[in-house]
Amino acid sequence: MTTIGIIGGGQLGRMLAMAAARLNFRTIILEPQADCPAAQVASRQIVAAYDDPAALEELATVCDVVTYEFENVPVSAAEALAQTVPVYPPPKALEAAQDRLVEKRFINDCGIPTARFHAVDSQADLEAALADFGGQGVLKTRRLGYDGKGQKVFRSASDSAEGAFAELGGVPLILESFVAFEREISVIAARATDGSVVSYDPAENVHRNGILHTSTVPASITDATASAAREAAEKILTTLGYVGVIGIEFFALSDGSLIANEMAPRVHNSGHWTEAACVISQFEQHIRAVAALPLGNADRHSDCVMRNLIGDDILALPDWLKRRDTLVHLYGKTESRPGRKMGHVTTLATTLAGK
Ligand code: ATP
Ligand code: MG
Ligand code: MG
Repeated sequence: MTTIGIIGGGQLGRMLAMAAARLNFRTIILEPQADCPAAQVASRQIVAAYDDPAALEELATVCDVVTYEFENVPVSAAEALAQTVPVYPPPKALEAAQDRLVEKRFINDCGIPTARFHAVDSQADLEAALADFGGQGVLKTRRLGYDGKGQKVFRSASDSAEGAFAELGGVPLILESFVAFEREISVIAARATDGSVVSYDPAENVHRNGILHTSTVPASITDATASAAREAAEKILTTLGYVGVIGIEFFALSDGSLIANEMAPRVHNSGHWTEAACVISQFEQHIRAVAALPLGNADRHSDCVMRNLIGDDILALPDWLKRRDTLVHLYGKTESRPGRKMGHVTTLATTLAGK
């Protein structure tokens, strides 16, 4: 029986382990935190740091393939594993996605536009970069940011930049030009070991307090914009020689053109709706790809809205459970905290609604 190693034990790893189990695969989670969401459903957990040499050696020995559920897996760990076992997506996808400066250059090299940007390694760099963008921009840490953490927005030239470099930790930063987008969309796409690619319909994403709130499908964009997003995803996958699922976020402008924001070399929160509204979910698609199986059908059979249950949103669970049009998915986290993703619900716009 094939054994799949998964680095990272959060809800994405949990949902990957569930999809793997349905296809008769064993999963082994590498995660330092005991009793993590993924370990509750995986075959086994190795409780160790992501770069622990003994743990990596064990993973390479007992697994037929290793994948990951977050983009901050140490590249050195992925490369060490790749000496003895296939690692999918390839470590160079991690390298391209871990640093926003490297990521934007890579995306531009694929012929896909991003916001304009400047590397910011000092307060003086910041002031020069802001002057170039007319005082507007989004300052971000180059590494490790998520859910809008490690960011500062400059809305106009009157917003003071004083002390902002130190405020974000004095680490390497990037200043992006401010994009006056009409809406945000994302594409989930997958590439198999044989080079075939599938993509899902783009989702329209709304964020609250920097965290994804809802993904609605179909997005309110033209067919041409949707095709452009899917083509950009395919270009990124083929350039990387990628295997697995990727999530790519875009800003859609009022003229229908797209600007890529960032990419995640893994299953993505804005693709959770696929488990309810598609034949094959993003999770199964990823497992199929890394296990060298044929990709599944990514067609969507229903319009839908996925909502994250964040912190106290979980208090509404009894109401969600009563709804006949909604699929509830919880992550096994017992303690709710502000900003913590506890689960998600996907409401289908089918004829079942309201009955
Ligand atoms: P995630 O949790 O999706 O990984 P993140 O912390 O990596 O998020 P981004 O996706 O870069 O952060 O930014 C978070 C949000 O901030 C975006 O979804 C968008 O709403 C807004 N934003 C980011 N960059 C820009 C920009 N250059 N111009 C305008 N808005 C932006
Ligand atoms: Mg991100
Ligand atoms: Mg984002």
